[in-house]
Amino acid sequence: MRNSGLGSWPERRLRISPERDAIWFEGATTSHAGFAERVRRAAGTLAALGVRAGERVAWTGGNHPSALETLYACGQLGAIWVPVNARLTAPEAEYVLTHSGATVVVHGRDHGELADALRDRLPGVRAWLAAEPPVAGGADSLPYEELLAHSPPEARDEPVGLEDPCLIMYTSGTTGRPKGAVLTHGNMTWNATNQLLGFDFAADERTLALAPLFHIGGLNGTVNPTLLRGGCAVIVRRFDPAATLQVIEEQRVNSFFAVPTMLDAMSREPDFASRDLSSLRSIGAAGAAVPLPTLRTWLDRGVTMQQAYGMTEAAPGCTVLDSADAERKVGSAGKPVFFTDVKVVRRDGTEAAVDEIGEVVVSGPNVMAGYWNDPEQTAAVLRDGWYHTGDAGSIDGEGFLSIRDRYKDMIISGGENVYPAEVESALLELPGVVEAAVIGVPDARWGEVGLAIVVPGPGAPEDGEALRAALRERLAGFKVPKLVEFVDQLPKTATGKIRKPELRARFAAVP
Ligand code: ATP
Ligand code: MG
Repeated sequence: MRNSGLGSWPERRLRISPERDAIWFEGATTSHAGFAERVRRAAGTLAALGVRAGERVAWTGGNHPSALETLYACGQLGAIWVPVNARLTAPEAEYVLTHSGATVVVHGRDHGELADALRDRLPGVRAWLAAEPPVAGGADSLPYEELLAHSPPEARDEPVGLEDPCLIMYTSGTTGRPKGAVLTHGNMTWNATNQLLGFDFAADERTLALAPLFHIGGLNGTVNPTLLRGGCAVIVRRFDPAATLQVIEEQRVNSFFAVPTMLDAMSREPDFASRDLSSLRSIGAAGAAVPLPTLRTWLDRGVTMQQAYGMTEAAPGCTVLDSADAERKVGSAGKPVFFTDVKVVRRDGTEAAVDEIGEVVVSGPNVMAGYWNDPEQTAAVLRDGWYHTGDAGSIDGEGFLSIRDRYKDMIISGGENVYPAEVESALLELPGVVEAAVIGVPDARWGEVGLAIVVPGPGAPEDGEALRAALRERLAGFKVPKLVEFVDQLPKTATGKIRKPELRARFAAVP
């Protein structure tokens, strides 16, 4: 085959085990042969709309087979897939579609109105396709299913190489505007390889596509590696804790990727203990450390949990903490995945000593080519062959990485470095603290002091002083925020991460 990229995976699988399950969605199962045929038809549909190699095809929506079909179809054409977070507002989605220069947009049933709102604003988009009949609006979008049905299922073999871009995935936008990480076919292949080497995927793996497919963890945590292995992606449209447990039981799911809050929500379900989870072997969790009580509830049910550290720019896996080490090394993000190197460096670029905190840098075949149309940001983070994550961390004597926080969020108070993530964890352990964020504000005496912004619930400390007193029992004095504000809610990204730049603008008048 001339195509060595991700687009060739369905064709290669076809030669080996066409009959095995590839996709399950809302009661319907598609074999690998069926999936390969739908990908060919999707590629034919996009080609008929004039999509050529290098062009960008956007996709947005709740989890749906069309996400994977259009991704692989783009891979067959040499086109670039651009997943767009389904929770973005119209102006945010417009930014991503404009910045990526998408010419075709495929949207889910809940995004008909978004398509209507943006259609006139984006003259560069030649075609809007509705993957399913929209619930509201979207009357002018073309019916994806019908187009596929009329497109001949012919195999194609374009010359697509591992160096060619496969997708542009926008980062969460936690620290500013989302950046478009260009991930190549090689990045996708090597991330999947790292995952297959680190996880115990079976040839007939059944993995749950639970986290959003427009995020790198949802897409590449277990789903693409499972498809590469020849297993099945059990797709759930959106996360609902009770319904998810039911699907795991009924579909005999073996693995899935989730963020810690999802695992926590599922473990709190009344029927968590009575559900048959015997098919589940392992869970991958990332985005933040899994709290010990949550970890224990899953381990007690006989499920192993591999906690990972990664980011969009690394497609995303960088390190993994094996289940066997989970309790002994609680809070750690583990060791580097097989083909990837991770180290911690000082400001001058030299390697930090054991346990010394510095910036986490990553190198390997899974690290992005750069940011789309952004040579400045690219040059700022890809230096000397290493991707500079902006995360502060340290590596212990056994080689285990621990992540403290983002450098951008670090507070320097009286010469001491304070990592807000640690203070926020302590705050969240206090009764009645629903949500909390800690930022630095300028201070004449200390340079900066911490400001805790807290969403109180029933039983919360009655005022800032009471809250500070409670914190002093848990944290060293210099880490206890000097200032406290109570608010009704915190500003969040579409990913659910707290927008600290917005808090700084509001409370500290510093961007
Ligand atoms: P932006 O780059 O746009 O500001 P973002 O960094 O939040 O947004 P993502 O790529 O989704 O976008 O998130 C990656 C970041 O998430 C990492 O750089 C790190 O800060 C954090 N992270 C990921 N895994 C872990 C983990 N296991 N422990 C702590 N932090 C983690
Ligand atoms: Mg980032």
